[in-house]
Amino acid sequence: MSSQLPGSSTGGSLKERLLCTVCKKLLVDAVVLNECRHIYCRACLLGHLDREDRCADCLTHLGPNKTAAFRPDPTLQDLVYKLTPQHYYQEVRYRKEFAARRRLQGVERRLVMDRNFTELARYLCKEEERIPVNLI
Ligand SMILES: [Zn+2]
Ligand SMILES: [Zn+2]
Repeated sequence: MSSQLPGSSTGGSLKERLLCTVCKKLLVDAVVLNECRHIYCRACLLGHLDREDRCADCLTHLGPNKTAAFRPDPTLQDLVYKLTPQHYYQEVRYRKEFAARRRLQGVERRLVMDRNFTELARYLCKEEERIPVNLI
């Protein structure tokens, strides 16, 4: 699977290339449009698609089947977490709270705290020794 970075021809720092098209913040649950490769947080894209059937950036039409117009991009999301581990730990806390609140057990809990996600922690530095922003 190729994971070409979006907008790599336009320059800008790596971090700038990991910003959501809608909220302009670092991606949360990254998804990418198949047609134009613009990137969004899943929640931002779904919210946007409620109102429009075009890409928020380049206005490419997404066709009648909106849910087939995008796919998750875990590679991109991993990159966000690697660049900003504090985002990752925030998400870990959030998912743990979510699982606890809903009293999730077994399979359901593993869906929330899935292995690919929890194993990422091994590749990240500890929250308190995160990479200084000026190195990115
Ligand atoms: Zn967003
Ligand atoms: Zn687009």
